[in-house]
Amino acid sequence: EEKEGFVGVADTDYAEEEKRRVSQVAFQNVRQQLGRTYLPLINGEFVNTTTFVDSLNPSNFGEVVGKVGLISVEQAEEAMKAAKAAFPGWKKTPVKQRADILRKAAELMEERRAELSAWIVLEVGKPVKEADGEVSEAIDFCLYYADEMERLDQGVIYDVAGETNRYIYQPKGIAVVISPWNFPLAIACGMTVAALVSGNCTLLKPAETSSVITSKLTEILIEAGIPKGVFQYVPGKGSQVGAYLVNHPDTHVIAFTGSQEVGCRIYAEAAILKPGQKHLKKVIAEMGGKNAIIVDESADLDQAVVGVVQSAFGYSGQKCSACSRVIVLQPIYDAFVERLVEATKSLNIGEADLPSTQVGPVIDGNARDRILEYIEIGKKEAILALELSAPNQGYFIGPVIFSQVPPDGVIAQQEIFGPVLSVIRAKDFTEALEIANSTNYALTGGIYSRTPSHIEQAQAEFEVGNLYINRNITGAIVARQPFGGFKLSGVGSKAGGPDYLLQFLEPRSITENI
Ligand code: NAD
Repeated sequence: EEKEGFVGVADTDYAEEEKRRVSQVAFQNVRQQLGRTYLPLINGEFVNTTTFVDSLNPSNFGEVVGKVGLISVEQAEEAMKAAKAAFPGWKKTPVKQRADILRKAAELMEERRAELSAWIVLEVGKPVKEADGEVSEAIDFCLYYADEMERLDQGVIYDVAGETNRYIYQPKGIAVVISPWNFPLAIACGMTVAALVSGNCTLLKPAETSSVITSKLTEILIEAGIPKGVFQYVPGKGSQVGAYLVNHPDTHVIAFTGSQEVGCRIYAEAAILKPGQKHLKKVIAEMGGKNAIIVDESADLDQAVVGVVQSAFGYSGQKCSACSRVIVLQPIYDAFVERLVEATKSLNIGEADLPSTQVGPVIDGNARDRILEYIEIGKKEAILALELSAPNQGYFIGPVIFSQVPPDGVIAQQEIFGPVLSVIRAKDFTEALEIANSTNYALTGGIYSRTPSHIEQAQAEFEVGNLYINRNITGAIVARQPFGGFKLSGVGSKAGGPDYLLQFLEPRSITENI
């Protein structure tokens, strides 16, 4: 039976008092569980480790969210062996059964929504509403990829007289998923369930700073009925365990989301044929952005200011889709900057779990120091238009706006991944587009305009994977806005889109003469 099209789940409406109460209770419960130990899952067993890392609350780094056991290279090898052993059975498991495990996982996440949001808020410092949106995204990935695999499983039949032809898909084998910390649940979940539902045995290597929330995902997949060896949870150091799994001759697919530097490295390493390896690896790499919004002289400035502020400072600028450059046309430049600065001043900066918080902390001390260095560079390259102060018990950085930024400056070209916005002046719309396209990246972009010819030109020439017209440029929704970039932002795959699962599959054509 054909459905009308995929419709995602709804976010929590915090305007309802009951929902706010549920959220409060969830925070109380989660706070009582802080500091527990989480272990890797290898071949269906939680295994002990010799090294542990503390995952800290970025809003208050005295608070240990959990202790995470990190696997050794020997344990990574055991996990790989178990995955290989489980593959023949998982490959034969009917698609309906695999898809139903994802649907069950989605149901469990919906039941635990408030609790999962609280873990996200406390582990990675994401404000409550945005954490809730992330839980929705994780659920949507499960439901959408379950449907998608059932669609693909029908294959294509092309019969002519005397001959039948079937076009079918089979799993590739072993998938290694390497995830970032900034969408610790949604991105880890999306890549993992895509690999699983398409029949691959999957090892999840999360980012070190967000391994508690991925331990919760592991609990959920187990409860949803994932067989032993089919999914394994292998937290560990990226440069060690991550690199080992990338280079392993038995790995077929690597699904990576993270920085350009690591993504390019994985792409290169995966291309080298290892002794005994009888296949080429598929690499899905989703990397950073240096996303721009263009504001032209016909734009509704109120709308543009709100959209830029949300896109630039939501989750402290730590979304790959975040706006980090705003390119403003000469006639409205001064007026826009003035209003942008005023609007940004009114943002509430504080601990991520406070309902009033709009801008929380950045992820850790390294990130804070790196962002502060960029702010120093910016002070030399451009004019400081705003630098807000922030609390100092966590890893906070107040929003910063630079004006008159040269389009080829360091702060206009490199991904800062923090609450730092560069405003760039352009003399006309064509120059604005040239500036927008002048980085290595092509992830998201936006335009505020009421000029049809500009909107048309942007659609044709703005080099981004996701273009948004007269709205904010973050918050892509599964199936509605399949997400991903090209150039050095990624390999062009679209998470939450109709082509995504194909990357985990081997197409085969079978012809029978009858
Ligand atoms: P990161 O590249 O530092 O780490 C990502 C993952 O790679 C982590 O799990 C890490 O342990 C692992 N890793 C590190 N070195 C490795 C190696 N040598 N071999 C194998 N694995 C290794 O990125 P991050 O700081 O976690 O995430 C932020 C970055 O992710 C930003 O650049 C952001 O733009 C990008 N991002 C992109 C998207 C997208 O969809 N395009 C989405 C979210 C985040």
